[in-house]
Amino acid sequence: MKITITAIKADIGGIGGHTCPSTELLETVKDYVISHGKDLLIDYYVGYTGDDIHIIMTHQLGKDNELIHKLAWDAFTEGTKVAKEQGLYGAGQDLLKDSFSGNVKGMGPGVAEIEMEERPSEVFCVFVADKTEPGAFNFPFWRMFVDAGSNTGLLINENLASGVIFKIMDVMTGKVADLKMWNDKPELEAALMYPGRYVVHSIYSHDNEHIVSSSTDRLHNIAGTYVGKDDPIAIVRTQKNFPATEEVICHLCQLN
Ligand SMILES: [Mg+2]
Repeated sequence: MKITITAIKADIGGIGGHTCPSTELLETVKDYVISHGKDLLIDYYVGYTGDDIHIIMTHQLGKDNELIHKLAWDAFTEGTKVAKEQGLYGAGQDLLKDSFSGNVKGMGPGVAEIEMEERPSEVFCVFVADKTEPGAFNFPFWRMFVDAGSNTGLLINENLASGVIFKIMDVMTGKVADLKMWNDKPELEAALMYPGRYVVHSIYSHDNEHIVSSSTDRLHNIAGTYVGKDDPIAIVRTQKNFPATEEVICHLCQLN
């Protein structure tokens, strides 16, 4: 069965500065997803990292689905009303457009999505970063999928040992390059040294299985001026042909 995981995040207000959402704000977003998503979603989770609220949804409607993206946009819009009423800092900060136009990409919220054939025990992790930049996950992804000195799983997992394909976005031009391991390793390593410009957009196995999806929007490219931090959200599938959950967590937790 084809399943899509959609993870969307936005900063719509914090208590006393850019700290965390209020309980009422978080509950408003969650209640909206529950009441308006019951006919669309298989499951959902609403949480936060710093002052960014994330909505994680599973469904069968595919990537870039208008109904799913609108559900998240409307939940954040509803939340923004509460943030303004409560006088939260930066209320509605990441909602850069006045009205929804089919897809939240390019409108402020960060989006990561993977459509896949669900495995008998599908395992994935969602990572969310705050107060950083779109390329914050560049280095941990490199350690996970390229550096055998950091991840010895690369030696024993045949699928990963064959080399993965990194899709790298130049966030200034919007162009995406496919860099195939192991031939394009030097180019990948050069690009990842500039996390403000070159960002891991996604990672695929050599037989085209989608392993990683990461948000790549740069807010000031959309708004035309500085409006906040470009904090990324990423989905990483784990186990079997992919890295072990512990390997993934170990490298992303070293961010701290
Ligand atoms: Mg934030």
